[in-house]
Amino acid sequence: MAEGYLPLTPGFSTLAIHSGQKPEQWTSMAVVPPISLSTTFKQLAPGVHKGFEYGRSGNPTRNVLEECLASLDGAKHGLVFSTGLGALVTIVNMLKAGDHILSVDDVYGGTGRYLIQIAERFGVESSFVCPSECQKFKAALKPNTKLIWLESPTNPTLKIVDIKKVSDIAHSYNKDIIVVVDNTFLTSYFQRPLALGADISMYSLTKYMNGHSDVVMGAVCVNREDLHEQLRFLQNAIGAVPSPFDCYLVNRGLKTLAVRMREHMKNSYEVAKFLQSHPMVAKVIHPGLPDHPQYELSKRQTSGFSGMLSFYIGTKNGKIAGIEEATKFLQALKIFSLAESLGGYESLAELPSIMTHASVPPERRKELAITDNFIRLSVGLEDSEDLCKDLDQALKAAFVSIMTHASVPPERRKELAITDNFIRLSVGLEDSEDLCKDLDQALKAAFVCCCVSLQAVCRQSACMFISITIFTLFQIFII
Ligand SMILES: *Cc1c(COP(=O)(O)O)cnc(C)c1O
Repeated sequence: MAEGYLPLTPGFSTLAIHSGQKPEQWTSMAVVPPISLSTTFKQLAPGVHKGFEYGRSGNPTRNVLEECLASLDGAKHGLVFSTGLGALVTIVNMLKAGDHILSVDDVYGGTGRYLIQIAERFGVESSFVCPSECQKFKAALKPNTKLIWLESPTNPTLKIVDIKKVSDIAHSYNKDIIVVVDNTFLTSYFQRPLALGADISMYSLTKYMNGHSDVVMGAVCVNREDLHEQLRFLQNAIGAVPSPFDCYLVNRGLKTLAVRMREHMKNSYEVAKFLQSHPMVAKVIHPGLPDHPQYELSKRQTSGFSGMLSFYIGTKNGKIAGIEEATKFLQALKIFSLAESLGGYESLAELPSIMTHASVPPERRKELAITDNFIRLSVGLEDSEDLCKDLDQALKAAFVSIMTHASVPPERRKELAITDNFIRLSVGLEDSEDLCKDLDQALKAAFVCCCVSLQAVCRQSACMFISITIFTLFQIFII
């Protein structure tokens, strides 16, 4: 599975556990860095202090985290922000009106929204190119291009950008162009943007870096002193800084980053292989599968992959599934939670067309193949057998009509009235009252009405539906 990838950074876990954490920095010699909540710090004389003045400009717990993060990226400096988007805004504030930003066409929704709806208002224009075609970057560069914002793999279609090539193209066009890589999906454990030629490695720490889905935070790591100076100034001047308590939590999360990422990689690979072999899955997108269009590039520039994968539900010819099956599938999942976000220890599933990428215009979604049967998974750290079983039962629940009679041509199914609301039961030997109760609750769950005044009508139609189902059952038995 990990064959042919870049070697992992030697000593990564040691850095994650010890970098910035020296007990000697505290008079108490605390091994676990304390949470320093004070917003202000006593000065020895006006302007003479021990490195801290006011909580926005610096904080001891925050420093610990920033130093640790920088070491993981092989960077000189790390800076943290209240959110990933806070990091984005701070970076973009290094630019001025009239400047141009070049990015990728399926950039993270919140990043695209800020660039198009907000930065443009301040005179900073953006354009977007397909991440997998390096030559398009070259053609899209302009004399006023100041920043290139990359993401690899992209979200949710998991396209991969050749970071080294794009950095070289940008820097040979104009050495002052700042190349940023949003490294949220892979983390510094699997991908090190600065070593590949980028100027800034950026994170939503909210995801894998913290890894426990309990903190929203962002970060930036840099080697260039000039960038560090500007960003440090802006961190304080803009003020999108995290709380000391959250810094403590992310610092704690980093201690298990390597262990978690190895397990995310293993689990997502097993889930991807399972889905690939499933008759109700039309196509799986995962950078670790040899049929990923940039499988070789992924091996060349990363040391592995995370828990992110996407897939199209439906039969292999991809014709049957739509929003109904996707919804049924997502609702039937028991271990995966139907939720946005990613990168935590718990597995999540979502429908980008309705959820994370709803703000992307429909025609744009169509171009990117973000259709209504396109599901994104964040594979967590549960046992992979349980995850596969969960996906299997949910796929079966979503495709009842397609399951046993999938091979019957659609027009023949139509003649036979094997419609998508036609359910077949095999009634077992349980107590019949329990079976009826079970059917009743499931039918009610399927027909929850959004409008209170419709409830009575719904109850009636649910009753009718039960009798139809039971009638159908009798028919099956008579046959
Ligand atoms: C979540 C995310 C962001 C935004 O980060 P927040 O912490 O939510 O502000 C940016 N980029 C990527 C790839 C993300 O997944």
